[in-house]
Amino acid sequence: MSLRVLLVEDDRELRATLRDALSVEGFELLSAASLADARAQAAHAGPIDLVLLDLGLPDGDGESLLRDLRARRGTPVIVLSAREAEGQKIRLLDGGADDYLVKPFGIGELLARMRVALRHRGTAAQPAVTRWRHAGLEVDLAAHRVRLDGADVHLTPTEFKLLARLVRSAGQVVTHRQLLADVWGADCTEHTHYLRLYMGQLRAKLEADPAEPQRLLTEPGVGYRVVAGED
Ligand code: CA
Repeated sequence: MSLRVLLVEDDRELRATLRDALSVEGFELLSAASLADARAQAAHAGPIDLVLLDLGLPDGDGESLLRDLRARRGTPVIVLSAREAEGQKIRLLDGGADDYLVKPFGIGELLARMRVALRHRGTAAQPAVTRWRHAGLEVDLAAHRVRLDGADVHLTPTEFKLLARLVRSAGQVVTHRQLLADVWGADCTEHTHYLRLYMGQLRAKLEADPAEPQRLLTEPGVGYRVVAGED
């Protein structure tokens, strides 16, 4: 059975482009051009596997819809945003959106993000991510072990916690606030300098060139992303 995607986007041209591209990939696409339309589709269209959500819509912003969708179904949501919407984008990610793409984006990138979001939500029977591998770097969360080109890498407990948090969301952006809350605690969400320090340490240990990271990526102004693992 093909996966159903609800596209909420008021740009007619982008809607048509995505409709073509996603149907070629075998997705069934429902589209809505406004919040009201999206609500109606969500209420009556039956199961929806993933939502692509534009922020700037003629009858309001995507934020309220995100809350409804997450509360009702736990459906993965990828935000499609213009760069100017930075503050709102971060709020949506903190509010439970799975990822975001800045317009204009490539179809290949969109499909990759969709695969990651679908995999992370998966089915209840699918085990959580506990192992991640990428070009010679292996992280085994259960065994608390990190190996680079076959050799054990020693991480401090905080470095490991930070890496583990990113690996559990591999392929997806994790906001500064989410990382600080999950690794240091809810009272540390403003301490972004912790992140800069510890990401620097992790890159020094895990990247061939820490100044040009290939795995531990910065999402400017938003957070960090560990690239999707190799299956
Ligand atoms: Ca728009």
